[in-house]
Amino acid sequence: MAILVVGSMAYDTIETPRERRVRQLGGAATYFALAAGREAGVRVVAVVGEDFLPADLELLASHGVDLEGVERAAGRSFHWSGRYRADFNERDTLATELGVFAGFRPRVPAGWTASEYLFLANIHPSLQAEVLAAVARPRLVVLDTMNLWIETRRADLLAVLPRVDVLLVNDSEARQLSGELGLAAAAAAIKRLGPARVVIKKGEHGALLFGRTSVLAVPGLLLPAVVDPTGAGDSFAGGFLASLAAAAADRDSDDAPFRAAMLAGTVTASFVPEDFSVGGLLRRTPGEVAIRLARLTDMMVP
Ligand code: AMP
Repeated sequence: MAILVVGSMAYDTIETPRERRVRQLGGAATYFALAAGREAGVRVVAVVGEDFLPADLELLASHGVDLEGVERAAGRSFHWSGRYRADFNERDTLATELGVFAGFRPRVPAGWTASEYLFLANIHPSLQAEVLAAVARPRLVVLDTMNLWIETRRADLLAVLPRVDVLLVNDSEARQLSGELGLAAAAAAIKRLGPARVVIKKGEHGALLFGRTSVLAVPGLLLPAVVDPTGAGDSFAGGFLASLAAAAADRDSDDAPFRAAMLAGTVTASFVPEDFSVGGLLRRTPGEVAIRLARLTDMMVP
């Protein structure tokens, strides 16, 4: 079953307490697609500029990602620049240069309008709404967003949320969107805005699922070394949705496949901080995935 994602394909300039890297391959759709893996059959709707390297498109294609919905437009690709604080859990955005995303109108190829799973990655909520409108009857719609849109495009975001099944946000975004300080109250308030399920990511501390009838807390996998956590959230989403698609879950399923998907998302995301850009994701092997899943499960049992 196919997963359609709309989101950024980007170059990122990253500053960590140790190092600075300029114009690395990044973007929410890039991380998501590589994280979901070949079996998931990911279809990307995005735009890149004239500066986007053919080798980067080839990298995605060689991992089974379908790029028919990626438009190449005149201008520069999306560029994001961020600086991590000493503990890696907080980062400051230094620059967001929309480039070709500024005039982007998403075009969903005709053969993709029956895509079963939809990931509306972090972009302008009215672009998310356009893609949602172009897909006939998805089995499941998952949306990610960020403080920028919660602050500046709140009405657009609130308009799309009633059609979303799972909202994926981090803890500060959940508080900001809901106006609540506690995460349980924040999740309950977000459910009243539309999504039946809410996933709240807490960086290295793990993630919470507020399901229909249950709550699950998954710890983060403790990594020996953190190099650059950029993309961990989008990669969590890739692992999460790939697991749901493999289980043929839909919005009416009970919480069980969503709970399993939380573990898959956590394991997938754990590869990202080990290197800059998509390096950690590309080094992932089925054997190491299995080892980490066992370790994660072991961390959760008494
Ligand atoms: P994450 O670390 O998972 O939250 O995602 C980081 C990725 O999101 C980076 O590769 C950025 O290129 C991308 N990104 C950052 N800000 C935005 C934005 N305003 N719109 C779209 N993508 C963004």
